[in-house]
Amino acid sequence: MAENQVKKGGISVETEHIFPIIKKWLYSEKEIFLREIVSNASDAITKLKRLASLGKYDGDEDAYRIDVSFNKTEKTLTVADNGIGMSAEEVEKYICNMALSGAMDFVREYEGENERNAGGIIGHFGLGFYSAFMVADTVDVITKSYLDAPAVCFTCTEDGSYTIEEGVERGRGTSVVMHINEDGEEFLSEGKLREVLNRYCAFMPVEIYLTDEEKEEDAEKKDGEEIKPTPVNDINPLWQKNASDCTEEEYTAFYQKAFSDYRESLFHLHLNADYPLNFKGILYFPKIQENFENLEGKIKLFYNQVFVADNIKEVIPEYLLMLRGVLDCPELPLNVSRSYLQNSAYVTKVSQYIVKKVADKLSSMFRNEREKYEGLWEDIRTFVEYGAICDKKFYDKVKDALLFVKTDGTKLSLSELAEVAGEKKTLYYTSNPAQQSQYIAMYEARNIPVFVMEKMLDDRFMQTVEQNGEGLKFVRVDAGTDALREGETGEEKNETLFTLFEVFSTEKQKLTVSAERLADASVPAILTVSEEARRMGDMMKLYAPDMEDMPVDATLILNMANPIISRLAEGGYGEKAEKVAKQVYSLALLSQRPLSSEEMKEFLCDSYNVLSEIG
Ligand code: ADP
Repeated sequence: MAENQVKKGGISVETEHIFPIIKKWLYSEKEIFLREIVSNASDAITKLKRLASLGKYDGDEDAYRIDVSFNKTEKTLTVADNGIGMSAEEVEKYICNMALSGAMDFVREYEGENERNAGGIIGHFGLGFYSAFMVADTVDVITKSYLDAPAVCFTCTEDGSYTIEEGVERGRGTSVVMHINEDGEEFLSEGKLREVLNRYCAFMPVEIYLTDEEKEEDAEKKDGEEIKPTPVNDINPLWQKNASDCTEEEYTAFYQKAFSDYRESLFHLHLNADYPLNFKGILYFPKIQENFENLEGKIKLFYNQVFVADNIKEVIPEYLLMLRGVLDCPELPLNVSRSYLQNSAYVTKVSQYIVKKVADKLSSMFRNEREKYEGLWEDIRTFVEYGAICDKKFYDKVKDALLFVKTDGTKLSLSELAEVAGEKKTLYYTSNPAQQSQYIAMYEARNIPVFVMEKMLDDRFMQTVEQNGEGLKFVRVDAGTDALREGETGEEKNETLFTLFEVFSTEKQKLTVSAERLADASVPAILTVSEEARRMGDMMKLYAPDMEDMPVDATLILNMANPIISRLAEGGYGEKAEKVAKQVYSLALLSQRPLSSEEMKEFLCDSYNVLSEIG
């Protein structure tokens, strides 16, 4: 082509249909265009660097950089790089034809469908460059190849027509000038651009500078001194380094920056998987809040330092999403559909690798730094227990590092638990240490340890341990008196005594009365509900929370060793016997479950009466 000759063309007859469709489809994730254009610029520089390292390009000493600049008056947004550039032929080949065939595939596949997975569609179909049309009606590409070829200006409008002009002035590299339309006006602001660059480009491997073209002049000098502009990104993110070269301070600083969290994480895990998995990353264990709503972990997925998405469930199991971290998987295509991820053997292997590493980290901390590990347990147990519940493989890998907390705060591992469980392999636990304090005291008086299992997940966690073949059984402290009895069996039925208590049996709670001689004489009676029946009732409540409580059969055990009970048995208290029995029953009930408002009112009233009778 002669200088300044303008070549005209139309991208394709069908293109007039393409742009409206692209716009419609991609509307929800408009800002992705910036990631696409900036990562093209970054790729162009990476390619040139590679050529230089292969000795195929004898480069100048220009620092490689990407400049994102905007002009509110002119309504332009420009992404300029000093990378490999393109010749006129390459522009036609790569931009006009190749990208377009991707666009056509896209239209064929998605026209008429309702999927809006924009991020997945764009790169999948090679629409990268064309995503600029989500915010622009005309795009100029001014580019000069690193090889000796004249610079060209390619101008494309949203109806698909284009011109290619030679003879423009430009040094090596490419500038993509987007003439912003109404839909894209928000991107003509420094705040918005910084926000989007921070999200997608914060760790790209080439320095990116953001400038307001209209302010550029004043920004350069302040008090006569040159101000060195700072790039918006960090081109050497910590995950790319070797773990042995990273300091604790660096890990903390990176965590705080990447997750905008002023706190420190509990500990971290630097991942570096070799070929064929070939990915890097850092996982952080944040302090997990008690409240489930606040479990806002975040795993950011990158592709060669370009941000792809948050919390991709297909790549890491859901329970690991409680953690925070970064994963850089250069083996994954930048934009992939969810269905691709779900069916990819590679993704499954990455996921398995991460699970194994996390479990190994926990086990090694348990083995080598037990004291520190115990100190962290309350903060990590929700995560560890949840993982153990969700994933049998994770359970198997961490089971040696699972801890169980006794009422006095001591923590035992699963194997230590087996030792205290004795021949019956039974462990006693409390789901509410305050309410069940009387039961706990009775167990502890007999040197039987009681474990605290009061967290929301604990019920399911105990079931998991039971089901996983450890042969252990968990029994709540109020489930029976097997461990508390003095003699081998119960006491004989005493008619006078039993009838005093049998009247408390109701439709809702059928009561069986029995008598025993308990080791602790101070407690007159305790109410027990079998572990199985209670668990069944809890499960029903979980599935049908509005349903009335299921009737649960209970056993009232009268303690013959207690003076009040033996006096009642002997017909003591005369006509006050019924009142005494009622008070004894209410106290037993109070230790077993929260009273209803009716029950509470009655109990308080009875108690006041007892007091008024003293004297
Ligand atoms: P993709 O990046 O998925 O290949 P694009 O439409 O974004 O699709 O780009 C098509 C091609 O155009 C790229 O593969 C590259 O060869 C070329 N290209 C795009 N932007 C640049 C740039 N800034 N510098 C050099 N070449 C570029």
